[in-house]
Amino acid sequence: MGEKYTGTKFKTVFKGKFIPNAKESEIIKTLIKIGKELGRMGFKDNNGGNFSVRTKNGIIIKTTGSFPHQLKKSDFALVAGFKKDEVYVYGEKEPSSEARLHWGIYQARPEINCALHTHDFTAIHCLTKVNGCIYIREISYGTMESARAVKNAAKKGDYLIMKNHGVIALGKNMISALKLIKKYHEKFETIATTPSSDCRTKKG
Ligand SMILES: [Zn+2]
Repeated sequence: MGEKYTGTKFKTVFKGKFIPNAKESEIIKTLIKIGKELGRMGFKDNNGGNFSVRTKNGIIIKTTGSFPHQLKKSDFALVAGFKKDEVYVYGEKEPSSEARLHWGIYQARPEINCALHTHDFTAIHCLTKVNGCIYIREISYGTMESARAVKNAAKKGDYLIMKNHGVIALGKNMISALKLIKKYHEKFETIATTPSSDCRTKKG
């Protein structure tokens, strides 16, 4: 990650408890599994990845400061909306610093219901441009500027690469988003391991 993590860049307004219903509990269970799976793929950095799923009440999103591969049920919050620098949340912990970015994706793409964000260093350190990827310039994380840039990029495709930061995969559901993360990770691994590769291997 190009920039050091210094917390969220908005004010969290807690609106109440988040008591997941049966459907929301299932979503959270699946997101915990996805986090473990991404951890097995090597995406383990703290404050790194964050995931969200759209529901009829808002978006369920990972809270900030928890490792994506070690999530518990209490590491999720429900974001019900935001206004400028205030994010409205049900739950007890602050949502991911990228909550506004996730929200923008769902505004831009009505058919998308899951967004997975990871710090896939293989993908972000590859200079070769890969078809199907939407590239976004380097922007400070968690800002409205980055949320707007991602919202625009999301209109063009389902796999976004944020320069010196990470990738975002969009899916109609959690499984299709996870498949995209895997598909492009494999693609970039293949490029990175060819002798003529222009991919930097250094992490961070
Ligand atoms: Zn990130």
